[in-house]
Amino acid sequence: MAYAYDDQNIFAKILRGEIPNSTVAESEHTLAFLDISPQAPVHILVIPKGQYVTADHFAAEASPEEITDFWKTFAQIVSDQGVGDGGNGYRMISNSGSDGVQDVPHFHLHILAGRRLGPMLQRV
Ligand code: AMP
Repeated sequence: MAYAYDDQNIFAKILRGEIPNSTVAESEHTLAFLDISPQAPVHILVIPKGQYVTADHFAAEASPEEITDFWKTFAQIVSDQGVGDGGNGYRMISNSGSDGVQDVPHFHLHILAGRRLGPMLQRV
């Protein structure tokens, strides 16, 4: 099944410069910016500039250059925030689809840090 990308999603509008963002890092294929509704002292979103709906879509169809650029940018942000090697750590989340409760249908990583984040999931 083909992945259907909605180019009216809010991150597509950010990438086109139609709405503002607080940029943390930018590279050829990747943009990172502050989450507008932070759930931790550090809450950064990392997105590819290409039109990918989910993590698996990106992994399946992005070019090696896009994939490398994305993960190197991620690593640089973790380092810049001081939460990686030798730091207090972080949580990286990517929600996909309806069961994953993905609100914005453009692949993104959440980087959360700066406090103890508690258990990964509540059992319900
Ligand atoms: P998800 O539920 O994983 O799709 O997460 C979407 C995230 O995007 C949420 O954490 C929102 O707070 C965040 N968000 C929505 N609109 C914006 C925006 N204009 N700028 C920055 N973050 C946003």
